[in-house]
Amino acid sequence: MQVRYRYRIYPSPGQEQALARAFGCARVVFNDCLRLRDACHAAGEKISDTEVQRRVITLAKRTPDRAWLGEVASVALVQACQDARRAYRNWFGSLSGKRKGRVVGHPKFRRKHGRQSIRLTRNGFALRSQRLYVAKVGEMQVRWSRPLPSGPSSVTVIREPDGRYYASFVVERKTAPLPACAREIGVDVGLDRLAVTSDGEVIANPRFLRVKERRLARAQHVLSRKQKGSVNRRKARQRVAVLHRKVREARLDHAHKTALRLVRDNQAVYAEDLAVAGLARTRLAKSVHDAGWSQLLRLLDEKARHYGRTFHRIGRFEPTSQVCSACGVKDGPKPLSVRTWACGGCGAVHDRDVNAAKNILAAGRADRLNACGGDVRPGLPPAVAGEAGTHRGAV
Ligand SMILES: [Zn+2]
Repeated sequence: MQVRYRYRIYPSPGQEQALARAFGCARVVFNDCLRLRDACHAAGEKISDTEVQRRVITLAKRTPDRAWLGEVASVALVQACQDARRAYRNWFGSLSGKRKGRVVGHPKFRRKHGRQSIRLTRNGFALRSQRLYVAKVGEMQVRWSRPLPSGPSSVTVIREPDGRYYASFVVERKTAPLPACAREIGVDVGLDRLAVTSDGEVIANPRFLRVKERRLARAQHVLSRKQKGSVNRRKARQRVAVLHRKVREARLDHAHKTALRLVRDNQAVYAEDLAVAGLARTRLAKSVHDAGWSQLLRLLDEKARHYGRTFHRIGRFEPTSQVCSACGVKDGPKPLSVRTWACGGCGAVHDRDVNAAKNILAAGRADRLNACGGDVRPGLPPAVAGEAGTHRGAV
């Protein structure tokens, strides 16, 4: 299966400049693609992918205001075109209902600030004596925190807002199935608790993560009060970027450990589909924790594949917190402040989230039986830049 391995890289000052050019060019090409497709769409014209690429790269290079596109590796520009195509397709598929899952909006234009990246296929990079060579940038030093399991098919070079650089390789990794076991579990992902299982286990967000999140919130508040263009504002922005990274790393680390444990201890793990969970809690889904849920679900899926276990999302809209898991009586909606309730049918007292997890387990089992024991796992997720995760320190 394909996974991503991420490493920190250390470009020289000259290489940083070359990368900045490449990021800029890829961003412009990506945005030009979107504008061109939007214009064609508005005019009711069909435009082929090759024609888009010809106009935003080949022809654009010949014009004075895009001539600088020639200074960077064309493979990075072609990949930017393909990223734009996929983003556009996802939006279209979502509009027409062909694409499953959460509704995807119009692709966003890439911005100059924030995370920057370029994607390169085999003809744009190489590994040479422990260094990463990138076309028109040069050989960069890599901190190999662990060995690559196989030769990478592509790499994404990333500059994070805090100024650190990373290389995220797409590699093929052999699965390592674990011996079968009989346990199955339902998982309810949540806000104040990362997850609650049908066994009644509460997996909280660790205290150190909450502390870091509070620090980040405070730094963001400080930043909002600094004058635009001032040195102090730049310093405050850097501090926010660093704290962002710390929160991200702490959350990812915790999600990895949680997902590994759940997959290792259970033959099958069931969870609510995020799109469904999002529907039920639209306002809250916008919260910062949203990232935590999708990350945990993605890692559960990835680890289940790797260890030969089953991870299945129940896709139907079911009010998992309203139905009594003991007798099946539907007890009506309850505000989020209600943590425990007694069933009007059988009198059983439920923890809201544990009850939901039990219903998820039952629904997941029913789904699998309906599928006649077939493999119900969804297809390979796309290798989104720097997102498909791997291990501690990734993303
Ligand atoms: Zn009941």
